[in-house]
Amino acid sequence: MLPNRVDHIGVAVTSLADTITFYEDIMGIKCAGTETVADQKVNVAFFPVGDTELEFLESTSEDGPIAKFIENNKGRGGIQHIALRVPDIKAAIAGLKAKGVQMLDNEPRYGAGGASIAFCHPKSTGGVLLELCER
Ligand code: ZN
Repeated sequence: MLPNRVDHIGVAVTSLADTITFYEDIMGIKCAGTETVADQKVNVAFFPVGDTELEFLESTSEDGPIAKFIENNKGRGGIQHIALRVPDIKAAIAGLKAKGVQMLDNEPRYGAGGASIAFCHPKSTGGVLLELCER
């Protein structure tokens, strides 16, 4: 039930192509892959760094959550969420709800990279969009 690592950090970007160029050519980190997650209206690129990962998110739609984040952030990208790896996401959701945490997802759903994910409401986490992630 307890989180055991930072699975990834989710970063909203305005251009995935520019981001991939910067992290590959300047930072020297190899992109491990890209994916489109239709129901979250995002294109995603994964950059493993040590035992965690940077997850870059580009909106595919003006009404998607990443587009709204960028709009609220004065048109700039930035850190959008932090994901903690849990061994059993259903148990983690139940445990947090029992402690009064408000969840955006009461059931696990599909996340980029094939993970099973659920978001906690920022109201319950001091303003951070916190993702639980089981792989
Ligand atoms: Zn994520």
